[in-house]
Amino acid sequence: MRKLTVTFVCENRHAVESVTVDLTSRGEVTSDDIWELQTKDCQCKKCGSKIFTYHTRYK
Ligand SMILES: [Zn+2]
Repeated sequence: MRKLTVTFVCENRHAVESVTVDLTSRGEVTSDDIWELQTKDCQCKKCGSKIFTYHTRYK
């Protein structure tokens, strides 16, 4: 089983959203694919920021 966990983090380092993708059914995941995983118009609940980066972690 191969899974990719993507955590979206705002510019103030608040973890806003975390999504896990099963790579066995999906194949390779590009940067564009990753951004599509994020909720549209996502905003940090703690600081209101809309500027995000993401971290990926393979399991
Ligand atoms: Zn924030």
